[in-house]
Amino acid sequence: MFGRAPRRSDSTKYYEILGVPKSATQDELKKAYKKAAIKNHPDKGGDPEKFKELAQAYEVLSDPDKREIYDQYGEEALKEGMGGGGPSHSPFDIFESFFGGGFGGGGSSRGRRKKQGEDVMHTLKVSLEDLYNGTSKKFSLSRDILCPKCKGKGSKSGATGRCYGCQGTGMKVTTRQIGLGMIQQMQHICPECRGSGEVISERDKCPQCKGQKVTQEKKVLDVSVEKGMQHGQKIVFEGQADEAPDTVTGDIVIVLQLKEHPKFKRKFDDLYVEHNLSLTEALCGFQFALTHLDGRQLLIKSNPGEVIKPGQYKAINDEGMPHHQRPFIKGRLYIHFNVDFPESGILSPQQCRTLETVLPARTSKHLTDMEVDDCEETTMHDVNMEDEMRRKRQQQYQEAYDEDDDEPSMPRVQCAQQ
Ligand SMILES: [Zn+2]
Ligand SMILES: [Zn+2]
Repeated sequence: MFGRAPRRSDSTKYYEILGVPKSATQDELKKAYKKAAIKNHPDKGGDPEKFKELAQAYEVLSDPDKREIYDQYGEEALKEGMGGGGPSHSPFDIFESFFGGGFGGGGSSRGRRKKQGEDVMHTLKVSLEDLYNGTSKKFSLSRDILCPKCKGKGSKSGATGRCYGCQGTGMKVTTRQIGLGMIQQMQHICPECRGSGEVISERDKCPQCKGQKVTQEKKVLDVSVEKGMQHGQKIVFEGQADEAPDTVTGDIVIVLQLKEHPKFKRKFDDLYVEHNLSLTEALCGFQFALTHLDGRQLLIKSNPGEVIKPGQYKAINDEGMPHHQRPFIKGRLYIHFNVDFPESGILSPQQCRTLETVLPARTSKHLTDMEVDDCEETTMHDVNMEDEMRRKRQQQYQEAYDEDDDEPSMPRVQCAQQ
């Protein structure tokens, strides 16, 4: 770009811009250009210079004759052969030849490019009951719509003046001399009309939108929450986000957010519920009614003679969550049993002897008086293990700190070196 004489290294630049090897096929070139051009499109906040470079590189390499000249003699030779000019097409023309009129297709009567509007996300809180049974919810929001009075024109007359700054193109081209006889062209979005190419005179501005072309509208969406949907699942309302002139309206995306249930937990299509049994129930049997998420009462009972151990799980088939879109298929309902042991001192020695006749015999053998005499007496305390561990950690920290105090020079020297 800066030298006049053709340089050999010049014939790799276009390939580098597109990020393809010199051996790239037409198909690979096309793909590489398409991907990079979408990413760098000025309407999407990309760099106009980069966008232009991409178009220039693609225009040359996609034409077998131009590519051959470029490969052999570089960029300069190509410019001379083309009559000393720069690229023959605007980068937008090349982009549009791919996408048929810019983002989203269409294009206004003036042939301007349509931008892709932003998607708008909202969260919707749902209960586990909602996801089990399915429901429909109303969701109100406000959004921008094209002003109904001026139909998005922004003016009373419907006319818009052409921006003087850019002659209505929305882009400004500046040129500067960068060497002997060499001129560099730079294209950027016109700051006066912010790329729209239009201006509206103060007197002609639409009274409803004040020339803004859009107004606010309250909207109520009917959100259908289907059986078995998941926390974080997205429900999309296509093309219903904020409207703007020359813009393809984005989507409203509703993200489901599950409120915690006091009783049931969900993992995929399975449900989990905790249930506390008394020791007597765990040993002698139990039954209870469990209210399900649709209000049905499930009878939960132990098998005759069955003993439930603390922490044990039981599963009931087909009482979990319905599978989304196949709601007749359901997961499992897991019940996690806790066993509440009685407080101390409720059993008299007499009752203990009665229990011993029923329960399995004690495993530890009874010591004789002589054996007891040979042992040392001990005392057992009740402890809260969490508190114990916390105290241990604090103690260790304190000791480490105290050691530092003993040799104050050592750690300080290390610090200074770091
Ligand atoms: Zn302008
Ligand atoms: Zn208006």
